[in-house]
Amino acid sequence: MVSQISRPLPSDRSAPGDPQRLQRLRHTCAHVLAMAVQRLFPETRVTIGPSTETGFYYDFDRAIAFTPDDLTRIEADMRQIICANLPIVRETVDRDELRAEIAQLHEPYKLEILDGIPLGEPVTRYYIGCPDPALPQGAEPPSLFNFPVPEDPTPAAYWWDLCAGPHLNTTGEIHPEAFALESVAGAYWRGDETQPQLQRIYGTAWETPEQLQAYLAQKEEAKRRDHRKLGQELDLFSIQEEAGGGLVFWHPKGARMRLLIEDYWRSAHLSGGYDLLYTPHIANLDLWKTSGHFDFYRDNMFDSMTIEAQQYQLRPMNCPFHVLTYQNKLHSYRELPLRWAELGTVYRYERSGVLHGLMRVRGFTQDDAHVFCLPEQVTDEVLAVLNLTEQILSDFGFTEYEVNLSTRPAKSVGADAVWDLATDALIQALDSKGWDYVTDEGGGAFYGPKIDIKIRDAIGRLWQCSTIQVDFNLPERFDLHYVAADGSRQRPIMIHRAIFGSLERFFGILVENYAGDFPLWLAPVQLRLLPVSDGQRNYANTVAQTLKQQGYRVEVDASGDRLGKQIRTAELEKIPVVAVVGKREVEQQTLSVRTRQDGDRGALNLTELQGLMTQAIADRGRV
Ligand SMILES: [Zn+2]
Ligand SMILES: [Zn+2]
Repeated sequence: MVSQISRPLPSDRSAPGDPQRLQRLRHTCAHVLAMAVQRLFPETRVTIGPSTETGFYYDFDRAIAFTPDDLTRIEADMRQIICANLPIVRETVDRDELRAEIAQLHEPYKLEILDGIPLGEPVTRYYIGCPDPALPQGAEPPSLFNFPVPEDPTPAAYWWDLCAGPHLNTTGEIHPEAFALESVAGAYWRGDETQPQLQRIYGTAWETPEQLQAYLAQKEEAKRRDHRKLGQELDLFSIQEEAGGGLVFWHPKGARMRLLIEDYWRSAHLSGGYDLLYTPHIANLDLWKTSGHFDFYRDNMFDSMTIEAQQYQLRPMNCPFHVLTYQNKLHSYRELPLRWAELGTVYRYERSGVLHGLMRVRGFTQDDAHVFCLPEQVTDEVLAVLNLTEQILSDFGFTEYEVNLSTRPAKSVGADAVWDLATDALIQALDSKGWDYVTDEGGGAFYGPKIDIKIRDAIGRLWQCSTIQVDFNLPERFDLHYVAADGSRQRPIMIHRAIFGSLERFFGILVENYAGDFPLWLAPVQLRLLPVSDGQRNYANTVAQTLKQQGYRVEVDASGDRLGKQIRTAELEKIPVVAVVGKREVEQQTLSVRTRQDGDRGALNLTELQGLMTQAIADRGRV
């Protein structure tokens, strides 16, 4: 039966720090996990276990749910397997012999995986531990780490899984203190909800214990900043299951912030040479047939509705509406470029399982814009978009970007000359901007090249936000043109672009980036006055009224709580500036000011407080 057991090839070896090695290490951990699970819980059936961005998972079929205690036991057994430094051995096997063997083991998923391997392709399995006594049984090649080899690594000294690889060469190449099991979640076989439900055990794995510790600390920090948790604590927004998943309710404080973001965005666009549009949320389905969305994007669209025997569609995108606006009259080359921006709300179908806070929703508002321009204007227009993007993102505190350029894929529409022109224009614009970028050759959409911009947040995470997409398809489908200098009709170039991406998602990123401690210009409440007793309430109200009239967002604590409690409440609500008003303050016409970042600022008169706040607002900073 053991037909072709081979030692791993020397070329499988690679140096630590190599991303492919890390991927192999993580996938190898998935095998080790499955081995440990079947050693401890032999009734469990195995399926598949890929690597992930931070570790690995494995899906198991077991009637009884894995408990946190089970995970601890499994992790300990994985450590045993790792410290035993078992070899990982690849075997090419005969399909029919293996089928018979699997049938005896009652591993239905393995059987299905085997039958899914195309005929003619080699079938391989990987052993952890070697079943062939003629071959060395561990400790060679030596473990990378000096951990004691357990005296008795039984009950099962070897285990195998059907897999195409690749893996590490021995379990000892995994550092026993650089992995951890994280959680158990439900999953379906093949991701299909009609298939059996499985238990997915997630783990994380790294090359060194230091990397694992850094990852765990980062995860803890991300949890502290989770926008869903802070959104509730700071009363910014909610998602009401009663109304449906993925639909966002902006509460007064969140709505106040959204208004500030929108006002900022509109004024930046008006001064950036854009005009603003408002267009409908639904339209005749024929429009989506002309645009091609009905054919290519239907899975992400809600079903259409019938109105007076016509089919209408909730919009998943704003583009066709801007195209119709363009088409409404004949444009001369002299009018171009036209830059039209809209905070356009769209609705897209997403499976309930993938919805996530504000990050993945079913209804959201894009900060969308379309530029219609002449071919020779593309470079300048794209450069202007890059400048506006940098201005807007940095005003919100994001100054580090990762930029990608995606070029023509194998299947595409549009003439070679137009693709070359547009791609060159994007490259020229990026070069003039002086931004480093990575080129994803062939990674563009079928209708044009694009630039994607990811922003780095306060804890180093990257978020995809801005996109600049050249489009040769929609102008063709809608037969757009302009009158050229010689009187002929020509196709304009269309550029789609968004800077935030979506207001909802960007808001979620803002909450996490600042951990709810917003810069003063964005804070829904900038200042709270805390009267020590009712005797100071009139003075506090008068000060609040004066500041409100000047446009500051001010509240007076009306709880009647003791001062200590009022201060604590303001802290929990992350109010940037608080001002205590006691007897002395009333007598001296001052306020005892305390800010979140800098603490006690002493007794300030109204003018001094205004100065402090005006400066912080102008700097878009935190106080
Ligand atoms: Zn594998
Ligand atoms: Zn668009």
